[in-house]
Amino acid sequence: MARQLHARRLEGVDKNIWVEFTQLTADYKAVNVGQGFPDFSPPSFIQEAFCSAITGGASMHQYTRGFGHPALVKILAKFFGRIVGRDIDPMEDFQITVGAYQALFCTFQALIDEGDEVIIVEPFFDCYQPMVKMAGGTPSSNLYTLSSADWVLSPEELASNLNPRTKAIVINTPNNPLGKVYQRDELQMIADFCIKHDIICISDEVYEWLTYDGAQHIKIASLPGMWERTVTIGSAGKSFSATGWKVGWAMGPGNIIKHLKTIHQNSVYHCATAAQEAVAMGFQREYDTFGTEDSYFKQLPAQLHKKRLRLAECLRSVGLEPVMPQGGYFMITDISSLQVDLNDPSTKDEPYDFRIVKWLIKEKGLATIPVSGFYSPEHRGNVQNYIRFCFVKVIWFVCI
Ligand code: PMP
Ligand code: GLN
Repeated sequence: MARQLHARRLEGVDKNIWVEFTQLTADYKAVNVGQGFPDFSPPSFIQEAFCSAITGGASMHQYTRGFGHPALVKILAKFFGRIVGRDIDPMEDFQITVGAYQALFCTFQALIDEGDEVIIVEPFFDCYQPMVKMAGGTPSSNLYTLSSADWVLSPEELASNLNPRTKAIVINTPNNPLGKVYQRDELQMIADFCIKHDIICISDEVYEWLTYDGAQHIKIASLPGMWERTVTIGSAGKSFSATGWKVGWAMGPGNIIKHLKTIHQNSVYHCATAAQEAVAMGFQREYDTFGTEDSYFKQLPAQLHKKRLRLAECLRSVGLEPVMPQGGYFMITDISSLQVDLNDPSTKDEPYDFRIVKWLIKEKGLATIPVSGFYSPEHRGNVQNYIRFCFVKVIWFVCI
């Protein structure tokens, strides 16, 4: 074809760390302690729920309501209504999606126009930037200063990114890759900023149940005046350790969610019925056991906490100091002390963390993820000394 084949919106978004590193991990048959998914099965109650969904009659194998299976949106509204402290309308205030990825995609497509700016707090889950760009928007990033006390976002840093085109801010708590859990005063500062400047908040909370050492997850949508301007993103994959099911949601006020529905109805339309039914049963169980020792949302962080300590111990035993995460699946560690002869010519122009990760995969059979992949290109040069481990896997690997 003589004419340009690809749409211009694809320019600059073709590289993807997951594509690159999962392939390399597979090629070298490395132990994958990089990519974030459990290597254990989901709890038996949710597996049984899936089995009962698929044997539950013909309707379970056919399309369901496009904006979300009724059983699922009803229980989610009840469940999160109790947490946010308000009545949530199951039919208006949710869009069920193919994982949190699609919820994010629908959100950016629905709300971001050509030329709009979106503040993305760094480090950030890598897909936010390309999704903003594909919607025609401009991502602008706040950089946490690595040396600052515990990666706290200051009001000055936030304000420095504001301009008349700023339409939205994206936060992620607990954060991937840092493991930071936003405290109430930080969320209040962000909420004040959003309200003052009429900005939408997109809050990615896929790791909401995974907090450690007493850290508490707070939904920014529960702060006064924030429900009206927040889209909260969730994932059943992360909630029930079933990332392959790809059930996610966007929750927010009906006047915002209706625009996400427009994107969804003109693209995916339906998500898998039986998976939604099973997740509905899972949430019903969690609603009934909430706050008790029987709740999976309580058992899972207790289980992961031990793995987190074990990984930290393992890293320290080889002279690496981890940044202890307060939440999520991941732990990052400074690798500047690693004395490695990086003589692979194929990686010579890449950032140091990319080179180290590739060396670890190829020479040691251990796959991690370079942390500079979670920064905007302008800031990557400042953060080449960290790599990310996923500690939800059974940590039995031999240290470097
Ligand atoms: N947001 C964050 C912060 C993530 O780490 C991930 C990856 N699990 C997603 C969204 C996408 O989640 P899902 O697998 O439900 O699409
Ligand atoms: N969210 C997961 C991670 O950060 C997986 C991302 C992916 O595989 N695309 O590791």
